Amino acid sequence: MPVDRLLPSQEAHDLIALTRDIADKLLDPIVDEHEKSETYPDGLFAQLGAAGLLSLPQPEEWGGGGQPFEVYLQVLEEIAAQWAAVAVAVSVHSLSSHPLLAFGDDDQKRRWLPDMLSGEQIGAYSLSEPQAGSDAAALRCAASRTDDGYLINGSKSWITHGGRADFYTLFARTGDGSRGVSCFLVPGDLPGLSFGKPEEKMGLHAVPTTSAYYDNALLSADRLIGAEGQGLQIAFSALDSGRLGIAAVATGLAQAALDEAVKYANERTAFGRKIIDHQGLGFLLADMAAAVASARATYLDAARRRDAGIPYSQQASVAKLVATDAAMKVTTDAVQVLGGVGYTRDFRVERYMREAKITQIFEGTNQIQRLVIARGLTS
Ligand SMILES: Cc1cc2nc3c(=O)[nH]c(=O)nc-3n(C[C@H](O)[C@H](O)[C@H](O)COP(=O)(O)OP(=O)(O)OC[C@H]3O[C@@H](n4cnc5c(N)ncnc54)[C@H](O)[C@@H]3O)c2cc1C
Repeated sequence: MPVDRLLPSQEAHDLIALTRDIADKLLDPIVDEHEKSETYPDGLFAQLGAAGLLSLPQPEEWGGGGQPFEVYLQVLEEIAAQWAAVAVAVSVHSLSSHPLLAFGDDDQKRRWLPDMLSGEQIGAYSLSEPQAGSDAAALRCAASRTDDGYLINGSKSWITHGGRADFYTLFARTGDGSRGVSCFLVPGDLPGLSFGKPEEKMGLHAVPTTSAYYDNALLSADRLIGAEGQGLQIAFSALDSGRLGIAAVATGLAQAALDEAVKYANERTAFGRKIIDHQGLGFLLADMAAAVASARATYLDAARRRDAGIPYSQQASVAKLVATDAAMKVTTDAVQVLGGVGYTRDFRVERYMREAKITQIFEGTNQIQRLVIARGLTS
């Protein structure tokens, strides 16, 4: 059943209706096939871009939709309820364009933002390295200043959209320590940049995740975003918004699992009655519904703070923690509600469960979210 949303404007209602239409007509018919064959849905992102769904919260002056973040996140939730891999890709695209939008100069924005925001160019975010995941400041990929620009050498890992993106928002070392990291905008066809084979993942099969290798790749100096040494500040600022995207994706997954479980529990009978009428199962479904509602409430609270221009880092970490833990629990319980068939690929709940797991890991594991929250509680 469609979620009854409290939205700030008629335009937002229209956007949700458009997204549901796209989810039903464009995503639903192809999701199972692509997740099974692990193939990338070519052309899909151009269609989402043409519908304006790749740049909803960005300012209209640069070609964005000018929508409140809370509206963008609810659109993302609707996409995730149909196809989490696509919602993650949309969220990562938004994460990748944030540094240019928030820290780039006007000339850089004029040159690159319109194509990014129209979805003409798909973005990737390249912070992690084999030895630097949670501890992002341990990154080693080097950007050495030369007369011609920056010479990039090193490897990056776990890049969503790796090998497929048109641009990579790269964090590389220009000096020592946490103030020695800088942010760059790398074109996908830069000579000296190559990609590894797609990782064989538990879920999100349709969108590739790869490593990237830089071998004396020369980047022109005008591709530095912000100031030299400002990279980690830029990376974490982008992640505050990105974490909200992941919280919304997790909520969409949990909602989809709940819907499927409720439908099944109203149809399946055991011991002479519908299984939802057995209190043990009805209460399980009630707890699942409460968890989905709490997940949505936490991301909306953080998004509304962001829209109001007040600090929201703590709330973003709370939302990421609450929503992704809820998604893991609700999707696992949905498999339980379906019994034996829940464990087969005949129903989508097993996919939701596999997909929920990653939301607890990327863009800062939930242990790291607790670190951020605890730091905010320390006087
Ligand atoms: C499918 C997928 C897509 C991804 N996409 C991207 C992407 O697009 N761009 C990108 O840059 N990265 C991406 N990542 C990387 C992701 O953000 C990292 O995997 C994540 O941040 C965790 O880092 P790690 O894997 O190195 O784990 P580690 O940092 O090695 O952590 C291992 C474990 O130790 C725990 N831990 C670490 N430090 C602490 C601490 N101080 N206190 C308590 N516990 C701690 C962690 O919570 C975790 O449980 C992706 C990863 C995956 C799997």
